Amino acid sequence: MRKLSLLTFAAVLCFVGLTSMAYASDPVHWGYEGDIGPDKWGDLSPDFAACSTGVEQSPVDIVADAPVNEADIQFNYQPSALTVVNNGHTIQANYDEGSSIVVDGTTYNLLQFHFHEHSENTIAGEPGAMEVHFVHRNDSGDLAVVGAMLNVGAESESLAPVWTNMPAEEGEPVAVDGATVSADDILPADRTYYRFNGSLTTPPCSEGVTWLVMTNPIEISEEQLASFQQIHSGNYRPVQPMNDREFFVSADMDTAPAEMEAEMEEEALDTEMEAEMTEAAPETASETPAALPQTGGENNSVMLSMLLGSTGLIIFLGGLKLRRRAVLVRKDS
Ligand SMILES: [Zn+2]
Repeated sequence: MRKLSLLTFAAVLCFVGLTSMAYASDPVHWGYEGDIGPDKWGDLSPDFAACSTGVEQSPVDIVADAPVNEADIQFNYQPSALTVVNNGHTIQANYDEGSSIVVDGTTYNLLQFHFHEHSENTIAGEPGAMEVHFVHRNDSGDLAVVGAMLNVGAESESLAPVWTNMPAEEGEPVAVDGATVSADDILPADRTYYRFNGSLTTPPCSEGVTWLVMTNPIEISEEQLASFQQIHSGNYRPVQPMNDREFFVSADMDTAPAEMEAEMEEEALDTEMEAEMTEAAPETASETPAALPQTGGENNSVMLSMLLGSTGLIIFLGGLKLRRRAVLVRKDS
């Protein structure tokens, strides 16, 4: 009898272990329409809760009377070798180390840039034809995104290297031999901008992101727009409520120390999680560094391996390996 219940116990644990493994190897699938669209993201995983419960979510409508910042972001951008990826959600160019911006004395390193069609943020209710997001991270793990609208006009020569190498199908990053890209050339010449606090615009929708959106658009040709649309169209999250947030100018920030302190505390919490995640997958660093569900699967696995001896250990290692693969494969915008 006792032997039987032990066997039953072991069988149950095996089942739990296998379930846990299946879960770890299967990152939560999300998209831009239907059952996995933006209004469902918060329900797809507990890790995506901020998508529905967050109060400082992105994108937003930048109201017509939003204050305009002087061009006081310091851009230290260098050209980069071109590594381009179709991650299933967008086209993304991963950027070489060594390019950064300085905002309020804090340096944020440029990780990658990617595109949405149409734009995610809107200005006075109007979307751009597309929007580019330059994603940066500081040493504490806080993110800053420089956004710019792409509107139809003259062809963008600086975007041409990306456009001519966009993978039509989802896949691994491709290093394009001999091709370089210059973020500095892609951005508009006039760097005045809108500023607000927000979130990742993709699951897990983590908040604490500094948003810096150029007031001036970048021009792309009709053909460039059309060729992007052939690969990704409608890959944007609708605008989210501003709630208690305000658009502000960086120079005014010193006037609200109490508010800032509270914000910094919040950001520190987000940072802890994001830093952990991005450490695991530096080469896929993106606007959504927190790629993995964190529901205690690892703790379960540890307990299992102890209880089940070598069988448990095998399940645990298998789970870890798959989980690691999931991290490496997972790329978001
Ligand atoms: Zn984006």
